[in-house]
Amino acid sequence: MALRLYNTMSSQVEEFQSIRDKEIRMYACGPTVYDYGHIGNFRTFIAVDMLQRFLRQSGYTVQYVMNITDLDDKIIHNAARDGVSVQQYTAKYEKAFLEDAAMIGIERPKLVRATEHILAMADFVARLVAKKIAYRTDDGSYYFRIASFPRYGKLSKKDFGGMLNGARVDVDEYDKDSARDFALWKAPKPGEAFWETAIGPGRPGWHLECSVMSMQALGESFDLHAGGEDLVFPHHENEIAQSESLTGKTFARFWFHVRFLLVEGEKMSKSLGNFYTLRDLVLKGHKPSSIRYLLTSVPYRNQLNFTFDGLKQAAVSVERLRGFRQRLAAASFPPGSQPEMQTLAQETIDRMRAALDDDLNTAQAQAAIFEMVRSANSAIDSDQIKKDDVAPLLVALEKFDEVFAVLKDDDSPKMKQVFDWAQSEGHEKDISGELREVVQSGQLSDGDIERKIAEMQAARSARDFKASDARRAELTAAGILIENTKEGVRWRRK
Ligand code: AMP
Ligand code: ZN
Repeated sequence: MALRLYNTMSSQVEEFQSIRDKEIRMYACGPTVYDYGHIGNFRTFIAVDMLQRFLRQSGYTVQYVMNITDLDDKIIHNAARDGVSVQQYTAKYEKAFLEDAAMIGIERPKLVRATEHILAMADFVARLVAKKIAYRTDDGSYYFRIASFPRYGKLSKKDFGGMLNGARVDVDEYDKDSARDFALWKAPKPGEAFWETAIGPGRPGWHLECSVMSMQALGESFDLHAGGEDLVFPHHENEIAQSESLTGKTFARFWFHVRFLLVEGEKMSKSLGNFYTLRDLVLKGHKPSSIRYLLTSVPYRNQLNFTFDGLKQAAVSVERLRGFRQRLAAASFPPGSQPEMQTLAQETIDRMRAALDDDLNTAQAQAAIFEMVRSANSAIDSDQIKKDDVAPLLVALEKFDEVFAVLKDDDSPKMKQVFDWAQSEGHEKDISGELREVVQSGQLSDGDIERKIAEMQAARSARDFKASDARRAELTAAGILIENTKEGVRWRRK
């Protein structure tokens, strides 16, 4: 089977075909770096990350470009308000975004920045003017003439019959029903940053930025363009209008949009008090792997309702998978193999692939791996597993984790980073007791823990109970849970 994906352009699930053989060029609208990223942003970025991971697992080479919107209305306004340059204002949030993305298991795309493409953007406008698609207004701004692009609205399926010829809008984000000539280039306003270019002083509009950066990095036509569902109109509609009217070619073949996330059943908003950045959740003591797991558990086109109960459940799920992996790796099984276990592993791999091929049905892929874990665990309990079954089961876990990325990385060093950040930024009061505990236990590496367990066991065999109790107390104080099973001692971080 091959990947089938929903394409917002055709409003259908289609077979995914790349323009070039076995090579994908994809672009995602990245963060606007004027604040810390919230879990809605990461819902979208993780969905795109999983898509590119799955494409690579499916044998494609993937060129994945993400922009950093380090220039838009909000940034210009905030930088002017704070009396700092645009770069000074955004540097801190760009750094925070990259740290957060790494923390949540997002593989780093090729990054492009709006502020590094200003001259190319001015040149793009000049070429649109030459084709009479753009025009200059008296103040030195430039607008896109919507009437020159009759297919305007083809992505959002909006009917712009009542559109006002020549009416203009100069803000980056605007009313969902307006079809107005939109600003490509904005003339300087007093106190705001601007650049000197061949088309005059000013700065690019947000929509223009993505057209220029994506085509420069990936070519005039590429395979897939991604973002959250709010970007369909006007952002992506405007990108298409600008790009296709200049090149006469299809801009992006597939349009991949991620449904907005709700928090506790409501739209996330600061006024409702249900607005969470990734760091807020880590400060509360939640692990990045649990957050990632929860954000991947609902297919990207379905509405994900983020709840704290769900987050606790996600932590249990990750722990179960990690525990199973540890159990497989640690135990010694009798030689040989059981055909049922070999079949189970292969069927799980096939089921995960079929689920992800089906428009990235992440929920079904997770269900498949859990069924494998359940069956294999009961096989271990009843001595129905042999030494040569371990490798194929581990391969199935590995295939799962190539896309989901929740098993391997240890959470505690990442949580320690957030802890250190909170201390250095004066957010100490936001550090929960849970996070403190994790950070303390994280000070023991896996090797330290295993050494202490070995010492504890050696002391016990030597009937030196004082020494063995002391080791156990050290481990418990560091938040390590120790369990004696028939296969030996197992441990995990609380
Ligand atoms: P921004 O930083 O506002 O430009 O947004 C970055 C990305 O996050 C865009 O693709 C948005 O569509 C997406 N996004 C913003 N809010 C949410 C949300 N609540 N759920 C899912 N995606 C979101
Ligand atoms: Zn964009």
